[in-house]
Amino acid sequence: MRYSLAVHGGAGTILKTNMTPEKEAAYHAGLRRALDAGETVLRAGGSALDAVTASVCALEDEPLFNAGRGAVFTDQGEQEMDAAVMDGRDRRAGTVASIFGPKNPVLAARAVMEHTVHVTMTGPNALAVARKAGLEFAGKDYFFTQARWDALQETLRLKKAGEDDGDPARRHGTVGAVARDQDGNLAAATSTGGWTGKAAGRIGDTPVIGAGTFADNATCAVSGTGHGEIFMRWTAASEIAARMRHAGESLEQAARHVVMVDLKENDGSGGVIAIDRDGNITLPFNSEGMYRGSVRSGEQPQTAIYR
Ligand code: ASP
Repeated sequence: MRYSLAVHGGAGTILKTNMTPEKEAAYHAGLRRALDAGETVLRAGGSALDAVTASVCALEDEPLFNAGRGAVFTDQGEQEMDAAVMDGRDRRAGTVASIFGPKNPVLAARAVMEHTVHVTMTGPNALAVARKAGLEFAGKDYFFTQARWDALQETLRLKKAGEDDGDPARRHGTVGAVARDQDGNLAAATSTGGWTGKAAGRIGDTPVIGAGTFADNATCAVSGTGHGEIFMRWTAASEIAARMRHAGESLEQAARHVVMVDLKENDGSGGVIAIDRDGNITLPFNSEGMYRGSVRSGEQPQTAIYR
């Protein structure tokens, strides 16, 4: 059986007018590294779960993307990260919300799935699970990036002046991966710092199963990025699976409807990457761009940013 893999680096892309050829090349290279990490697992016959975990770790390690190293700052100047994994074989899932410490929050989510009887954890006990699983931790210096700090100062300044920054998508970002392995199993993983200037303690759609992350072998695997509150209210990821299951829609039809109608008509800017059990891939978004890439066995990897 053939494998398929898709990754995203968030729908909160830099406006096309502010993009330089150097930055653009760096984003493509980051996406490419994430595809390579996941594809290496899939090519060797590894599981979709291991592949999405490897891809998301590569994206978390890349400071250009809003997850792990390079995560955005809350209105209190802290970094609070959300992450999730889901295994389509049995719908097992693990998520962490509002954590700081593990270098790769997606591994902390996976530790919750594999080492506890729970799905979602936060606070000191979530960190204790990660520590017990032997995960690597890092301090503020590792996670800090000047660009994210400057973005927070600008967001706070605009907020104080009662002004809109004209492009809310700029403050967003997330990373994610979905895969189908050679055994036909699906998995999804997502990781984010949330929004620049979000209220401390706010939790987004990423660690909410069925909102920003979902996987079920019977239908599809989905990882979302965008205005998290709207993804939660429209249960975006599981709605795609539900439309396939109950209305007989194709992956493409179901994902398109959720992104272009449910989300778009309700101020839910963003997009999803999704894969079905036949290995079809769809990457719809309703924002100016979405950092994204995909690869299938026997094909060349593709990466893209704008429409
Ligand atoms: N969905 C993320 C959140 O709301 C942000 C994003 O993907 O842009 O936390």
